[in-house]
Amino acid sequence: MDHTTPQNVDPAELAKFSELAHRWWDTESEFRPLHQINPLRLGWIQQQVPLAGRRVLDVGCGGGILADAMARQGAQVLGIDLATKSLKVAQLHALEAETPNVQYREVSAEALAAEQPGQFDVVTCMEMLEHVPDPASIVRACATLVKPDGWVFFSTLNRNPKSFLFAIVGAEYVLNLLPKGTHEYAKFIKPSELAGYCRQAGLDVQASKGMEYNPLTRRYWLSNDTSVNYALATRKAAA
Ligand code: SAH
Repeated sequence: MDHTTPQNVDPAELAKFSELAHRWWDTESEFRPLHQINPLRLGWIQQQVPLAGRRVLDVGCGGGILADAMARQGAQVLGIDLATKSLKVAQLHALEAETPNVQYREVSAEALAAEQPGQFDVVTCMEMLEHVPDPASIVRACATLVKPDGWVFFSTLNRNPKSFLFAIVGAEYVLNLLPKGTHEYAKFIKPSELAGYCRQAGLDVQASKGMEYNPLTRRYWLSNDTSVNYALATRKAAA
């Protein structure tokens, strides 16, 4: 475990996730949306880069929903987060489910970047940037952690009236998909802003994808509409 004091973290955000940590693997809990979108995002990542045999880092892994699934595709996965309870849950799940080749560690992206630069073929950082004080710093750390020619994937929430209505009013107040206060509008990130952070960090945007939700069927699907939830696939220049 890492005992340096990370700066780029909001303790209230970690507390929110820690409080719910025992429910990470309950597919009907607050984490249902993440369980539902998991096969979609995993499929999209693998369209860009097949994961089998790759060294993958998952930044802000939480209970390990994506990290575990990537390991099951044959990747060698390290999941990092700063919420201790979530990491314990992730580790316990890996033990119980006998997931091969997945490890978890409490360390910030920035600290790991100083320790293991250029060590990962693929870095994923999903639904995390909107919870940190300085997302550009996380993007820079991810760029440092990935090998030249490697891939970095981000997903977050767009910032516009529609995303406010769907991701906060709809998801937290009308449909009760997420606990109230899960997301803060001011921390949402426009795709142009995220692309800017990427470019400044030496990551070229290769593809983007949106995610849509139908509350009647309770289903998610990938689309080209990036107005609410979206992901970017980026790549570091070859050495
Ligand atoms: N990436 C996972 C979990 C998303 S929830 C998934 O998509 O399934 C957001 C996660 O970000 C939580 O686990 C929270 O603990 C973590 N987090 C918040 N701030 C963080 C920080 N500064 N460093 C690392 N993880 C952080």
